[in-house]
Formats: sequence, structure tokens, C-alpha cells
Amino acid sequence: MTFVQIVVLAGGVGGARFLAGLRAAVPGARISAVVNTGDDVTMHGLRICPDLDTVMYTLGGGIDPDRGWGRLGETWTVKEELAAYGAEPTWFGLGDRDLATHLVRTRMLDAGYPLSQVTAALADRWQPGVELLPMSDQRVETHVVVTDPDSGRQQAIHFQEWWVRHRAAPPASAFVQVGVDAARPAAGVTEAFAAADAVLLAPSNPVVSVGTILGVPGLRAALLATPGRVVGVSPVVAGSVVRGMADRCLPVVGVEVSAEGVGRHYGARSAGGLLDAWLVHTGDRADVPGVDVRAVPLLMTDPDATAAMARAALDAAGV
Ligand code: GDP
Ligand code: CA
Repeated sequence: MTFVQIVVLAGGVGGARFLAGLRAAVPGARISAVVNTGDDVTMHGLRICPDLDTVMYTLGGGIDPDRGWGRLGETWTVKEELAAYGAEPTWFGLGDRDLATHLVRTRMLDAGYPLSQVTAALADRWQPGVELLPMSDQRVETHVVVTDPDSGRQQAIHFQEWWVRHRAAPPASAFVQVGVDAARPAAGVTEAFAAADAVLLAPSNPVVSVGTILGVPGLRAALLATPGRVVGVSPVVAGSVVRGMADRCLPVVGVEVSAEGVGRHYGARSAGGLLDAWLVHTGDRADVPGVDVRAVPLLMTDPDATAAMARAALDAAGV
């Protein structure tokens, strides 16, 4: 096999599983993951990067596979002790093992290291076999505009509060990327696109994972300058999201919850969009003008199925 370079845009659980399949599908390839950091948040003085950690733990063999996030064999003593002090927030799942990651990260960030270097240092322990790149070294935090049911007033709350605390229940009217104006792609991101034989959009949340990454000024242009083909994988199968609550996000940006809806949202690269090819699940139909739409099994039920799905994405990319 010739040496190939692949870049994947990834959120948390969906991105991590897809990357695991891709790593298995092309053992010799250099894979760079550009990971959403819009979910990042500071709690109890610690900097937490949920999507980066989900990818790192999944690829490094430390993930709790049932939950899909956090550490296997996790305990919650510190969380219980914080709650006993009444220290808010109490709704965020901060595990004891996980805390060590946040302590090391926060200490390095406080010492002045950019997130990309901090991430590389953390990955040195986990050896994910994939280059982990935060989308940006600047802080960009997704906030959700919701209407307060009591006052009727609009307010923006952090994405984590909407997603984890409120289970995405309060109707949202917009997503806002706080800090995005001052952001630029992290070290290594533009270079990775420039060297890529293929750019793959993981079946991650199109709004608050992939959409957030693409919102970093200059990143979309860098992606589109890639010499490789751009292939997306639908997170919507048979009209619903496979896992999670992305169906709460798509209507907020006016996108139908269907493989066709998301494909059209990304759009054809030949017409100002992103995609050269779009993978939908077997039996799903999608008409996305200007895009090579292919139907293949898209359920990441086990490692073999996930690797076959990644292989199909590479086939569509001509790699
Ligand atoms: P998060 O950051 O943890 O929410 O994870 P991502 O944004 O990376 O991925 C969430 C998306 O993954 C959801 O919209 C799901 O529809 C999608 N997803 C999860 N499992 C599968 C799967 O087996 N197949 C497909 N096609 N999509 C999946
Ligand atoms: Ca996420």
C-alpha cells in the first residue's frame, strides 16, 4: 500500500468510533483528527475538553465502552465530595481517573502551553495511533440561546449546561461560538489539510461538532484547498440519529433530520459546499446535487463493521 494521509473532522463519541474503524482499515496511514473543542468548559478550576478526551480514551483503550465517554473502571469520590460541599456544578460527570487528565491539562495551559501541545503531551501516554489536533488553540465555547420559561427572556447558556444538565430539552433558537472571532486553526491543522489524500467528515453531530470546527475562521478555506477528495458520513440513519440528541440541534439551523438533509447542508464542493462524496446508510436515499452519494452499511456496531464503513469512505475518496 502507498503511504496515505487522511484528515478526519471529529466530535466525541461518533468521531472516536469512526476513527477507531479508520485506524483498523488503513494500518499504514497517517491519520490526523481535527477535533471539536467547542464543548470545552472550565469547572472547579479545571479545563475540560470532552471531545478530545473521548477520542483520546477511545483510541488509547481507556474509554468506558458502554457509556461511550469517560474512563473504564471510573470512580466518583471527588464528585461526591464536591457535592457534599455544595460546590456547583454538581451535574457534570467528573470522574476520579478523568480528573488527572484535567489536572495535567490545566497545569500545562496555566504554564502557557497551547492546547495543541498539551493535547500531544496527554496523547503521549495513550498512544492513540492518530495525530490529535484541537480545531483551535484559542478558546471557542459553544453557547445555546434558550428562552427562560419564567421570564420569557432569551439567554445564552453553555452548551454543556444545555446538553448534560438539561438533556437538550429547552428549545434552542441558536448556537453561538463565543470567542470564535479571535480563533484560528490550531498548529498543524492547515498543514494536515494541505498534505491530505482524503478529508473525511466523521458521522459526528453536523451542528455542534462538525459545524463548530468549520466555524473557526480560515479552517473551512484550508479544508477546501486540500488536494484530496472530501467525503462525509451521515450520522442520520433511517431518519433518526443513531445515538445522542443531534436531532435537537439540526432543526435549530434549519436542517431536516435525514441523510439527505445533512448532505445538502454540507453541500457539493463543486457548488460552494464541502462534499465530493456522501455516504448514507443502506436503504436510505439522498439526492445531493453535484455529490457522489453512496449507500453502504453505516452502523458502527462492532470493530469490523466500523472498519468496513471507514473503508467505504476511503473508496469514495479514491484512496
Ligand atoms: P459527541 O460529541 O459525543 O456528541 O459525538 P459526535 O458529535 O462525534 O457524534 C454524535 C453523532 O454520532 C450522533 O449524531 C449520532 O447520530 C452519530 N453516531 C453514533 N453512532 C453512530 C453509528 O453507529 N453510525 C452512524 N452513522 N452515526 C453514528
Ligand atoms: Ca461533543
